[in-house]
Amino acid sequence: MQKAFDIGLDSLVGGELGSVPESSFLANAPQRGTFYLETFGCQMNEHDSEKVAGVLLSRGYRQVDSVEAASFVLYNTCSIREKAAQKVFSRLGEFRGVSGEPKKIGVLGCVAQQEGEKIFHRSPWVSLVCGSASYSKLPELLAQLEAGEKRVTGLDTDTDETFETELTRRDNPWRAYLTIIEGCDKACSYCVVPFTRGPERSRASDSILRELRQLAELGYTEVQFLGQTVNSYADPSSRKMKFSELLLAAAEMPGIRRVRFTTSHPRDFGRDIVEAIETSDRICNHVHLPVQSGSTRVLRAMQRTYSREEYLQKIAMMREAKKQITITSDIIVGFPGETEKEFEETLSLMEAVKYESVFSFKYSPRPNTSAQSMPDAIPEEEKSRRLAVLLELQRKIQSEANEKLAGNLFDVHVEGKSRKENQWSGHTSCYRVVNFSSSQPDLLGSYVPVKVTSATPNCLIGKHEL
Ligand code: SAM
Ligand code: SF4
Repeated sequence: MQKAFDIGLDSLVGGELGSVPESSFLANAPQRGTFYLETFGCQMNEHDSEKVAGVLLSRGYRQVDSVEAASFVLYNTCSIREKAAQKVFSRLGEFRGVSGEPKKIGVLGCVAQQEGEKIFHRSPWVSLVCGSASYSKLPELLAQLEAGEKRVTGLDTDTDETFETELTRRDNPWRAYLTIIEGCDKACSYCVVPFTRGPERSRASDSILRELRQLAELGYTEVQFLGQTVNSYADPSSRKMKFSELLLAAAEMPGIRRVRFTTSHPRDFGRDIVEAIETSDRICNHVHLPVQSGSTRVLRAMQRTYSREEYLQKIAMMREAKKQITITSDIIVGFPGETEKEFEETLSLMEAVKYESVFSFKYSPRPNTSAQSMPDAIPEEEKSRRLAVLLELQRKIQSEANEKLAGNLFDVHVEGKSRKENQWSGHTSCYRVVNFSSSQPDLLGSYVPVKVTSATPNCLIGKHEL
């Protein structure tokens, strides 16, 4: 999946450690060589990689930023669409026939889960294959490799465990990801996630809030709660905190100024979440609520568990909120059997909702999904045509919406510094990217008022209001 509203962080300071100071772990760790970890896919994968890196660091490995410098190369993979999965195999192919000091190669994440031991046959130089539902076993698996085993796997998905680490190597020093629910119990007919990430497992609210407190103490001011269906969160502890209560509790944490969450599933999206956003200025006024299609018939075929009308009711609930809420979405075009009229229903839904941003995808048939065997596949050229029409419409909607924001003042969390002098970038609470000018030094990590002077379809342009 594309990263939502990504910005180029030229000057992001990497290497900060979250949750627990690095020194308390690494002082006594044995020296075991170097690792290079490349991540494909969604924010959950990015955060999983931060935790995997924490596990490796605490075992005495040292992180390097090139394959050449590493003795252990790991790929954290994505298989949501075929193209994403292919990328990994092309990376693995690069090791074919390579001479010199042999490296250990590990495949993690969704492709690992999907392909399993077949990876060893296709790429015999791989020694570790581990899906995300088995990450809590990583220390054991690494110990087996270190003891000389040639092929090690972690492929169970039948688990109620979540992946919690004592050390997490966070890349962004101000905004921390925090996974609150893993896996997925929905059964969308096109999607590999329930198969590759296993059943839904929520983390206990106490443990989440404890980690958040540690993050705040380390100087993080923004947290992003993650889950494939983050709002399906079900506290396994006796506290039985609802998702909206967890948001409010997080917003009360001293030091935390922004609480985000993604991705919400429409079925479990209730009024209480809107009320939490209305209640606390620290809960960001942005909801990513993927619709996937504007046609009720297609939604039924996708097994999305809501109709067009039910989805639009959730949108109306947000548009009527006391606070303006930014709404973004994911849309798939060319699902098997999608007629031209049904595609047009998606366009009319986009016109009705006026999303602030959309991630759109051509349907990609995936293994182990029920849609794979559905008849009436849409030809590739037609999928591309529909995608282009959709992108054009969304561009128009975004341009109009962004232009209207000229003159508005936003509180911007500064996360990037451009190579150009006095140019900075950051996000609003509603997760719009703002590129702005300021003659002030050292703005990184701070929150500053920015007046919007102009806009493009993808970002706002402004000036620091001094
Ligand atoms: N759990 C989230 C939800 O239900 O909205 C989304 C998770 S998925 C990692 C991200 C997006 O990838 C989906 O919302 C969907 O639009 C897209 N996607 C998933 N499977 C796909 C497929 N087989 N072909 C094309 N796009 C797909
Ligand atoms: Fe996939 Fe549907 Fe689960 Fe989202 S809710 S991860 S699209 S199965």
